[in-house]
Amino acid sequence: MFCAYYLKKNGYQVRLLEARNPYEGASSINAGLFCPSHFIALAEPSMKSKSFQWIIRPSSPLYVQPRLDLNFLRWGWQFFKNANVKHVEKSIKPLLDITLLGKNLFEIFLEEENINEHLYSNKGLLMIYSDEKNGIKERKTGDKARNLGLDVEDLDRHKLLELEPSISHIVKGAVHYKCDSHSTPTKIMDALRDKIRDLGVELHFGMKVTGFDKKNQLIKMIHTDQQDFESDITILACGAWSPILAKSVGIPMLIEAGKGYNIDISTPHKIKYPSILIEPKTAITPMESFLRISGKMELMGLNTNIRKNSITTLIHAFKAFYQDVEVTKENQMDISSGFRPLSVDGLPMIGRSSSISNLFIATGHGMLGWSMAAATGKIITELIQESNTSIPVDAFRPERS
Ligand SMILES: Cc1cc2nc3c(=O)[nH]c(=O)nc-3n(C[C@H](O)[C@H](O)[C@H](O)COP(=O)(O)OP(=O)(O)OC[C@H]3O[C@@H](n4cnc5c(N)ncnc54)[C@H](O)[C@@H]3O)c2cc1C
Repeated sequence: MFCAYYLKKNGYQVRLLEARNPYEGASSINAGLFCPSHFIALAEPSMKSKSFQWIIRPSSPLYVQPRLDLNFLRWGWQFFKNANVKHVEKSIKPLLDITLLGKNLFEIFLEEENINEHLYSNKGLLMIYSDEKNGIKERKTGDKARNLGLDVEDLDRHKLLELEPSISHIVKGAVHYKCDSHSTPTKIMDALRDKIRDLGVELHFGMKVTGFDKKNQLIKMIHTDQQDFESDITILACGAWSPILAKSVGIPMLIEAGKGYNIDISTPHKIKYPSILIEPKTAITPMESFLRISGKMELMGLNTNIRKNSITTLIHAFKAFYQDVEVTKENQMDISSGFRPLSVDGLPMIGRSSSISNLFIATGHGMLGWSMAAATGKIITELIQESNTSIPVDAFRPERS
């Protein structure tokens, strides 16, 4: 949607084709965090050992469904190949550039378009730990963040209690990334959709793209399940589904769907700050009129089943880290799932296709697609205009190997 927003603002005629009705992709159900603090790529060395420990523990943050799928095996192989120190170091700057740009552009978008400021808050993010070993690791990341110019404070239990009195007895401390912010995605997505419609973007919800007509290495026509459209420029931004359409035009794309859940609850609470609970990898976000618990990473392909065990684990994590909170059937407003489009190196794929010159790709944003959304829309617009990009984009080349 941010691609549509910036393109329309720059005078292009834009049509958005969305298979679902209403919009229900990962972008509506995420934890709503803008995280410049997350400059360590998902493909990092400790993932190798952690993944194997997690796979055998049912309550762990990761679930992998065994399956004989060649693309999944290829994805796993490439992911582990990338999980090395050199790759992590090389990815820091591109990740920091794009998340900082994304956050900044998002703030400008809210202000320029007069979108309710209550949907966004600049309080930062608490990375909360219950095991001092993890505290040591997180403080090291905090040191690194400070060296990169981010605003970060280490909080022992005493200091954390002053800020967030609702933490439970198991919590040892937190690192407060004041550089981060949070929002209410469902409402922002509604506001963004209304805004682009008002600007004159042609919106087609409930219309699935089924394929393309190509001539001389250019996409000429887009086929959908309802009608066909001529197209001068096509942007493929289908999240975890992107490889299906990429394959239809001969572009190999390795993206694995990382399913995550959100549980929205209306339980009364005094939680003031958004947090990530480090050990269970669960995010807690106070949103406009409810609290969102999100997390889990399930590698099961494009499978939308909601696993009861995963929901229970998320609720347990929440109740273990906060006191005086109740999650009952009555106060559960919504449970949904969404797919993080996971690239093999933890960096998004943003740019012009090298084989089809009027095709642009914007996907692979993994765990950070909300933080990077506005930046992605802006970069795609700049690339289409053939103007200088706001940040270097070489690391995001879609068809990098
Ligand atoms: C539980 C969870 C928590 C998260 N928390 C955060 C967070 O706090 N901060 C952050 O930065 N990121 C977060 N993320 C990641 C972020 O939500 C994703 O990276 C981002 O939403 C991906 O956006 P997308 O537009 O690429 O994909 P999506 O939002 O999934 O959108 C893709 C859309 O393409 C449509 N589509 C697919 N195929 C077709 C077709 N053939 N024709 C037409 N339309 C099609 C789908 O219907 C879908 O609506 C989280 C993700 C999850 C799952």
